[in-house]
Amino acid sequence: MSTPSTQLENKYVSVVLDKGIDKLLDYKLPKDLNTPVSEGMRVVVPLRSRYVSATILEIKETSKFEKVLPIIKLEKETPFLKPDQIRLAKWISEYYCASLRKVLKLFIPSSVKGKATEKHQYFISLTLPLSKLKSICADLRQKHPSQAKILDVFLKHPKGLLLSELLQLTNTSKSPIDSLIKKQILTQKKIHIDRTELLDHEFFISHAKKLNDEQKSALDKIKQSIDSRTSQTHLIHGVTGSGKTEIYLQAIDYVRKLGKSVIFMVPEVALTTQTIERLKSRFTEKIAILHHRLSHGERHDMWQNIYQKKVSIVIGARSAIFAPLENIGLIIVDEEHDSSYKQTEESPCYHARDLAVLRGHFSNAVTVLGSATPSIESYTHALSNKYVLNSLTKRAATNHFPDIHIVDMKREMEKTKKFTLFSQQLLNGIKKRLDKGEQTLLFLNKRGYHSVILCKSCEKPLSCPHCDVSMTYHKKANLAMCHYCSYSICPPPRKCPYCHSDTVEYKGVGTEKVQSMLKAIFPEIRTLRMDADTTRHKGSHTQIFNQFRSGKADVLIGTQMIAKGFDFPDVTLVGILNSDQGLYITDFRAEELCFQLLTQVSGRSGRSSLKGEVFIQTNLIDHPLFSFVQTSDYQGFYKKEISLRKLFHYPPYTRISKFIIKGPSQEKTRDLARSLRALIIKNTPPNTLILPEIPDFRIKLQDEYRYYFLVKTPSILPFSKTVKKLFESFVLPSHYKILIDIDSI
Ligand code: ADP
Ligand code: ZN
Ligand code: ZN
Repeated sequence: MSTPSTQLENKYVSVVLDKGIDKLLDYKLPKDLNTPVSEGMRVVVPLRSRYVSATILEIKETSKFEKVLPIIKLEKETPFLKPDQIRLAKWISEYYCASLRKVLKLFIPSSVKGKATEKHQYFISLTLPLSKLKSICADLRQKHPSQAKILDVFLKHPKGLLLSELLQLTNTSKSPIDSLIKKQILTQKKIHIDRTELLDHEFFISHAKKLNDEQKSALDKIKQSIDSRTSQTHLIHGVTGSGKTEIYLQAIDYVRKLGKSVIFMVPEVALTTQTIERLKSRFTEKIAILHHRLSHGERHDMWQNIYQKKVSIVIGARSAIFAPLENIGLIIVDEEHDSSYKQTEESPCYHARDLAVLRGHFSNAVTVLGSATPSIESYTHALSNKYVLNSLTKRAATNHFPDIHIVDMKREMEKTKKFTLFSQQLLNGIKKRLDKGEQTLLFLNKRGYHSVILCKSCEKPLSCPHCDVSMTYHKKANLAMCHYCSYSICPPPRKCPYCHSDTVEYKGVGTEKVQSMLKAIFPEIRTLRMDADTTRHKGSHTQIFNQFRSGKADVLIGTQMIAKGFDFPDVTLVGILNSDQGLYITDFRAEELCFQLLTQVSGRSGRSSLKGEVFIQTNLIDHPLFSFVQTSDYQGFYKKEISLRKLFHYPPYTRISKFIIKGPSQEKTRDLARSLRALIIKNTPPNTLILPEIPDFRIKLQDEYRYYFLVKTPSILPFSKTVKKLFESFVLPSHYKILIDIDSI
């Protein structure tokens, strides 16, 4: 472990460079350095004829290299990384076969490296009264349209706005703004802002609730673990609405009173709003938020606030697990089963839930995983006493569960003799809620208006030229769009691009279409939609959440963003429009994912005193999964699932890794996959099962072809060590990449 060295004679450091060679390199500490050096510090080192920034990972007495150069200087006299972070980083690099540089990027985001970014912003306002603005705008319109466009914004924001907001709204450069400042129509003022404050506003104060027996017993066990200062992991298996959050809040309170810090992870950025609100209503102290939707500047400020110990509670999505937090007492992973905790498209393909357990272990903190539908892996650990199991079987704010109805859509379509999106029962249900002033949630796992644009003559769907994906029609924007690379055609073609006939048809339904169909049926209905299209702008999650919560809409339509964790007390009806999409996928986890999703979405209904109802529409009415969902029978589902996993040798009885090879030529990509597979076969023991290479589910994405093969091993660490060694000397042709996804899901 890192002990600051005062004796600088003959000391060496192993560092990871920010740029250049991507492996641990040794440097000497100069004798005249007066500052004690420790692991995790940032330094500048010479590399060939350049100077490069680097991070110290080890301090040692000797180096096996003969000619070792001295470091140039320390970038800062305090370390950037804490000992538990360094341990975790090394573990991630080893376990997930990832380069240390890539791993360190997770811990030290680029926004905090080097010079601190400017914390000042410019506030732009009008120098003239609003009444004069219109005529000036009209004068400018012809000759200087971009200046007119900027002034247009001030008609809506007469008090002025931040330069960054103005640039975003107008989509222009700064030069027309400068011209307007020169003409003395606008003026700018430098102001100081703490970007972490932007998220703060007034919160209702809520007091700790009196826990029911099940909640109390869970909290007591968690407190015991905290008191015993052991890094135990708890799994709270609590039905939807059982009040898991109240336990988290009281556990946080307990830990904070001991002066320790907390990481609280949620699976969706959309959920951070609700979580922030719940925490803010209980704790007056400052809270930091970390997720990928933050701007460079916000991330910088959040990170610095945590690093400088100004904040002791961090909320966030999966990247929050890397927070530079010291003295951690508690790590919470809400909705621990959720697959968005796993990074899949970029190395390292880490699982934030597993890292939470590990970081808890390295920093002697208690980790609490919570879910109504625990992952098969976590529940297995709980049953084998690796985790402490806490079960909550009752809802906290009410004593009833929603009535879940499974609706046979095949029969529904026989009755109506045409494509039917809403069953009659669901429509009746929505009508009833409208009359009573209660709210409805409608779930559909597809955004856009029509999901397919199909040619009747040649039967080809319009697909993205860069990806093996059919394009989705978006009505409001009037374009066809690829949901993978965002390539769009505006307006969508009237003629088929393949056979040139004009028999193009629009098919399949997305959330945008659901919204307009609903309006057609109930003209008075007020709807909101939450999906990737409506939440593109910053703060839009919060806005939609607040609007719906305060009753500004009758129905919220959405994709998986609305499936998780939301607590809307007035929602008494949930409709799941296409429940079986996930069941057509041939993946051993398909049923687990489907069970989790249906249970989670259903659980949004009837959470307060009002009784709830759920309609699950399906074309596979006889599928056994539905009876588990209908009776909320997690144990039954688990038993069936675990016996299948055992029988077919799937996780947790084995470990699966996925090797994805990507490149510009299909043949070469396949050949490369083939030779990598052969290399692994040759170098691993016979108990390693290596499946044949096959094209990925989407063979082409963003102009890259993708082949993969799966490897089943009894355990990971020995295997990933072998792979890492093998690949170190394997040179990939340029433009070809390999992604190793350990514990692939
Ligand atoms: P979960 O996360 O387990 O699905 P929540 O934490 O959202 O459930 O709790 C569901 C509802 O029950 C919330 O509105 C919450 O305020 C309420 N609640 C939680 N604990 C209690 C309690 N002990 N007494 C009364 N209401 C409670
Ligand atoms: Zn055609
Ligand atoms: Zn595409």
